[in-house]
Amino acid sequence: MERNEFSSSWRYINYKLGWLRFLQNSGAARAGLLLLSWVGIWFVGGLVEYTHHASVWFPPAGLTFAVLFVVGGRAVPILMVAAILVTILTNRHYQIDLHNIGLLKASVLFGIAHIIPYYAGSKVLYWLTQVQRLTLPLLIIYFLLIAAISALIAAMLVIGSLILSDMMPVNDFSTTWLPFWIGDMAGIIVLGPLFFCIIRHVYPDKYFKILDHIGVQSSSASPQYKYKILLSLGLVLLAMLLAKFTHSMNSSFAIFFLVLPHMWIACSENAFFNIVSLALSSLLVVFLVDTLYLMNFVMVYQYAITVVAANALFAIAIPALISRNHQLQSKVFIDSLTQTASREYLIQQCETQILHSQRRSQPFCLLVLDIDYFKKINDSYGHDVGDQALKTLSDTVKQLLRPADLLGRYGGDEFVVLLPDTDEQLAATIANRLLVQINTIELIKDEPLSVSIGVTLMDQYDDFQSLFKRADNALYDAKKSGRNCVFQH
Ligand code: GH3
Ligand code: MG
Repeated sequence: MERNEFSSSWRYINYKLGWLRFLQNSGAARAGLLLLSWVGIWFVGGLVEYTHHASVWFPPAGLTFAVLFVVGGRAVPILMVAAILVTILTNRHYQIDLHNIGLLKASVLFGIAHIIPYYAGSKVLYWLTQVQRLTLPLLIIYFLLIAAISALIAAMLVIGSLILSDMMPVNDFSTTWLPFWIGDMAGIIVLGPLFFCIIRHVYPDKYFKILDHIGVQSSSASPQYKYKILLSLGLVLLAMLLAKFTHSMNSSFAIFFLVLPHMWIACSENAFFNIVSLALSSLLVVFLVDTLYLMNFVMVYQYAITVVAANALFAIAIPALISRNHQLQSKVFIDSLTQTASREYLIQQCETQILHSQRRSQPFCLLVLDIDYFKKINDSYGHDVGDQALKTLSDTVKQLLRPADLLGRYGGDEFVVLLPDTDEQLAATIANRLLVQINTIELIKDEPLSVSIGVTLMDQYDDFQSLFKRADNALYDAKKSGRNCVFQH
């Protein structure tokens, strides 16, 4: 049974991969599929039309933007054919009765008005993605801005073209431009990223820097993803049923709560699954506007889809920012060669420990430890051996310390050990133990490593500087008196 299931799913994957390969290798198939998809989703947009020529959302705007972004100018002829086809269909739908030349003029005008703003917008975005040092939040802001501006220009040009070609009365302009604009913008913001993810699989040769930013996240959905989706869809249903049964504009605003599950998804799932969840929620909103007869509140839903999507897209940057923050933090706090505390972290921890010990009147000791004749090791055996000595010494010292103690690299071959809750006597014992153990390190045969150590006990007036200075003076005396020994101040 399991075997059968395995082989059938394997066959399914192979079948899908076969299709993908076919598409990747055939330009004609890609063109045909684009044409069919564009006209198909134009129909879907038409299903939720609420005023002449304006839908709750306009998915073809998202597809046009995404395809021009990925493929560029080569997609223009197919988009033009699609524009001509849908103009002929619109002509029938509104019974406008344009013929031959008039119809051709109208369709070409529509094509130009729809394509040019999105071509320009996608080119600007593409150019921006190629610019170095573009962060993900900035990229998303650019995308949202470009989507809003190009959708506004497209709305103006397309309405202009409809008026010019007698498909729309001039008087309709004032009632149409805003829903037209928001519908197009929703199409780009909500569905554009999803179309982008799909189209780029068909064009694997295309390289997008945009993916470098998103790539830092995991590649699969979390096990809770399906519940998060159910929660968002459930919320959409509840909010829209509320509006349906109360018939009040006020309750229609409940749809804005959708921002909460989508922010959650944005912060906890990868970019692709975010985009899919947005598409699903907005699809349900659009479907319910139509089936629950909520056209009176349609502008609320249009704005909600757009605002929720814009928020969620922006929040996609959060996981990437958190992981970059962790990387930076570990760079600042951990010395990369020896994996001990960095100088900054060491000083910070020491100051905290001083305050803590002074407040509780607990003893606190600090050791400064410096390798003897380290320059000679570097000069005689090379920098690599010198580096290895620093690493081995750090590992050895770490093994001998208690969990509450802290070893940090102060600089070069000089290390500091913080010993909380430790009196002078115990600190000297620990220092001598370190000295003996370090003497057993022989990176070069018969040339054991040796260190000099300065020890000091904190007093009531110490800060890091004064404590360190005293230990460093003790170290200086240890060096002067022949090295490989412990001195106390
Ligand atoms: P002393 O016994 O007086 O301490 O003599 P020394 O030769 O150890 O003198 P000093 O402590 O001043 O030498 C520090 C040397 O450590 C100088 C520098 O070339 C070397 N050094 C500093 N950082 C690194 C490092 O990251 N790797 C290696 N291999 N050498 C380093
Ligand atoms: Mg030294």
